[in-house]
Amino acid sequence: MAARERAAGRGRGSAGRGKAVRASAGRDAAGGAAPTLLDLDEGGLKSVLESAGEPSFRARQIREWVFGRHVLDYRAMTNLPRGLWEKLSALLPADPFEQGVIRSAAADGTEKIVLTARDGERVEAVVIPSDQRVALCISTQAGCALGCITCATGMGGFRRNLSRAEILGQAVRAAAFSGRRVGNIVLMGMGEPLLNYANVMSAVREMASDRGMAIGTRRITLSTVGVVPGILRMCREDLHPNLAVSLHAAEQRRRARIAPSARKWELDEIIDAAGLYAEVCGRPVTYEYILIEGINSSQSDADRLGKLLRRRPAKVNLIPLNPVPRSNLRPPDAESVRRFKLKVEAYGVITTLRAGRGAEIQAACGQLAGGRGPR
Ligand code: SAH
Ligand code: SF4
Repeated sequence: MAARERAAGRGRGSAGRGKAVRASAGRDAAGGAAPTLLDLDEGGLKSVLESAGEPSFRARQIREWVFGRHVLDYRAMTNLPRGLWEKLSALLPADPFEQGVIRSAAADGTEKIVLTARDGERVEAVVIPSDQRVALCISTQAGCALGCITCATGMGGFRRNLSRAEILGQAVRAAAFSGRRVGNIVLMGMGEPLLNYANVMSAVREMASDRGMAIGTRRITLSTVGVVPGILRMCREDLHPNLAVSLHAAEQRRRARIAPSARKWELDEIIDAAGLYAEVCGRPVTYEYILIEGINSSQSDADRLGKLLRRRPAKVNLIPLNPVPRSNLRPPDAESVRRFKLKVEAYGVITTLRAGRGAEIQAACGQLAGGRGPR
């Protein structure tokens, strides 16, 4: 049976299909708030324009400003008549965020931007320069309910899902700030993307599409702690970003100690679902593994990881723990990290080591807290 059909059989019930996700655009603005421009897909925007007595070709013009030039202000869209931008500003605000933005820059060029949503919620995105381009790290929820012991977002608790507009808007605003071409987008900021499925996939569709940000699915990575129903639902979509799974342990009990959500979605199920996704999308899954001294970074931990992933469509990304305020957890020393990597590689598993960029401005993985920090 084809992988896609197997996914359909196994996950039925929790599933929406690609079509349903598209149709949801505009209905999921934050907390039931009035939709803003980026809540609507092209069809939705045309309908709004038509019902306001405006020609639908304006939709293409507006979207060119937004996605081509990263402009989120109708007044700056110089080919729109004044009457239209006045009407639209009242009907459908262009920017899901307040204008002000807090920026902090690290010595390595990484920049964190903190955007304020219309209800005052703070949303963090990170711009990471690489060669001539930038990678954008985008948040999908304000806070997170899953409480991983390593993560400042989780320590602050869950506040709400971000709307499609707030997810896309971070990418557009961050691209505008950087002024450089966007090479990659990673959904690895605050929150668990697969617990905000419809808004996230709707935003990813627009990021990937040639008619939207034109990034392409191969340059978009969604990172999940392992929400199995969400991974199976992704298998049934007609677009497939890269999948990263935060693993952190190759053994169920130890994993549950680091990521409490592991009690709900067990290791074996996650590996099976991720394997299916790799088959459907034709690319390996990246397993992220935070190295924490005394918890998951011994040579026998490396053995277990190598054994679990050998001969699977998998890569490993090792991340020495970024320190989080008010936590005693520490990364292992450089030599232990090196030996861990060699051991996993000995099983034929491609293994990379992620640099903790932006750590001094609390912009590295696990350090985003929406201005609140651990409670
Ligand atoms: N909820 C999703 C995506 C957001 S977390 C997930 O858990 O995958 C983004 C990444 O930060 C994940 O890979 C997570 O494992 C990692 N992370 C969390 N705390 C960290 C820390 N203290 N140091 C390094 N990486 C961390
Ligand atoms: Fe949530 Fe991911 Fe942080 Fe875990 S690591 S608490 S899933 S954001």
